[in-house]
Amino acid sequence: MSTFQELGVIPEIQQAIAELGFEQPMPVQTEVIPQLLANTRDIIALAQTGTGKTAAFGIPIIQKINIKQLSPQTLILCPTRELCLQIAGDLTDYSAYVEDIKILPVYGGSSIESQIRTLKRGVHIIVATPGRLIDLIKRKTVSLGNVHTVVLDEADEMLNMGFSENIDEILSYMPEERSMLLFSATMPREIEKITRKYMRDPMEITIGRKNEGAQNVRHIYFMVHAKDKYLALKRIVDYYPNIYGIIFCRTRKETQEIADKLLQDGYDADSLHGDLSQAQRDFVMAKYRNHNLQLLVATDVAARGLDVDDVTHIINFGLPDDFEIYTHRSGRTGRAGKTGTSISIIHTKEKGKITQIEKLINKQFEKREIPKGDVICEKQLFNFVDKIEKVKVNEAEIERLLPSIFRKLEWLEKEDVIKRIVSLEFNRLIDYYQQAEEIDEPQESSRRSREESRGKRGERQDNGSRKAEKGYARLFINVGKMDNVNPATLMGFINDNVKGKVPIGRIDLLKSFSFFEVPEEVANKVVSSFRGMYIEDRKLVVQLAQDAERPERDKKKFFEKEYGKKNKKKKARY
Ligand code: AMP
Repeated sequence: MSTFQELGVIPEIQQAIAELGFEQPMPVQTEVIPQLLANTRDIIALAQTGTGKTAAFGIPIIQKINIKQLSPQTLILCPTRELCLQIAGDLTDYSAYVEDIKILPVYGGSSIESQIRTLKRGVHIIVATPGRLIDLIKRKTVSLGNVHTVVLDEADEMLNMGFSENIDEILSYMPEERSMLLFSATMPREIEKITRKYMRDPMEITIGRKNEGAQNVRHIYFMVHAKDKYLALKRIVDYYPNIYGIIFCRTRKETQEIADKLLQDGYDADSLHGDLSQAQRDFVMAKYRNHNLQLLVATDVAARGLDVDDVTHIINFGLPDDFEIYTHRSGRTGRAGKTGTSISIIHTKEKGKITQIEKLINKQFEKREIPKGDVICEKQLFNFVDKIEKVKVNEAEIERLLPSIFRKLEWLEKEDVIKRIVSLEFNRLIDYYQQAEEIDEPQESSRRSREESRGKRGERQDNGSRKAEKGYARLFINVGKMDNVNPATLMGFINDNVKGKVPIGRIDLLKSFSFFEVPEEVANKVVSSFRGMYIEDRKLVVQLAQDAERPERDKKKFFEKEYGKKNKKKKARY
């Protein structure tokens, strides 16, 4: 195995990457670095994220920069703002000891003026998303006349995102004599077209096999009736207590709905999709990256910028029509030498897709049955017991409290204490699974109607599963994030409209409605204070959560009865 020195990397960069912990070059680096340093040929590298590809192109690019010539010499194009920032950040790290090198990330959704100012001062390397770069070229603030190396990173993603024409246009502004590198996780036809059009006799490097998913990813699927998909999702998530996962949905709407439902059912979940503002997306991604969020529900496009190495599970809430997307999704787990699991929840009609994907990734799926309630409870229980065993006890902090705690519990046997601790944590889960119908796998059509009616009952129980804290009642209100409500405004709003000070407990804000908890004894007062109120022309609905979770038909009657047109309009204060 070679070293970075043997690959021709200069000492300044060797020192920087050694400090980053790079001891040996990764395979893609061994292949690409010498080629790019020698400037011999165009390169197509089939490599997934996580293979070390950024350093493979980043290191030689930095090394080849002529610092004295302060104009763009290398252009790196990538699909998203997040990837753009990440590549620029990585290049800055690798060049920590290369004096005066200027690297600029250029991406949409942030101030173009400050990018223009930096460009005017001069840069050596531009890392850009295609749309913003075109904008800057048109404003004549960027000239690509001196670019000798261009990198297309995640080229397949750029095409998926519709950047094909932009890439054509950008390449037309560059000198003919330039070398080009194309990195892609997959090799769809459109990429081959680009390579034929713009590359001369490219050298093709494949890290892993062509079109193959990551080696250390297991592929599992669960088959359920379409209507049972959400219930199945909950069971799967419950079955893996330490999951740190991404749930992929097909549309923005579905993404939001699934995230809302999970949150409502007490899961640590949030959504990431294109209907959110950039600031909201950044916030959710940071939360997930920092492990302050366990489940990220995302669309493929929005998740593209997210680069997290330790995702344990990918869940496909249905399979994508484009199977290349499956490869991308599953490639988000099993990274950096870790193992990962890619789970697909499919309905009967999608079975054929499994066979096709198996061919594409050259791996077999394991078919699994949806975990039964008792198995889930057992798994959660042992995980909890394991945590009790391993928890780090802060002796110093709790020392002074222990004597009184021991005194209070001294009448209990050790076994009773354990039973109580476990019950505290598990009663809700055990109750839920005792009542919930098991989800049967779809089989012969004669059983279908029986199963469907079962499923409906399950769904209903499912929505009611989030219980209020002890002594509190959980209320529903028909305003949510869409109405720019946040916990502070909601608390203010309630207190402005209810007589006396109402202490407010847990708040769950969803897209178009929310839940909040108030002490049981004031719940009726809060509900009646809002009865018949309007915000402009919209009727406000505040009611006990269990009433709001009635099936649609009953709910309508309930609303008509409680908030019928006969009620005189009362204006809410807000
Ligand atoms: P990438 O495929 O560029 O996203 O890189 C995946 C991860 O591998 C990143 O966290 C890099 O910092 C890390 N990495 C890249 N090259 C090496 C190396 N030679 N040794 C150890 N880690 C590396």
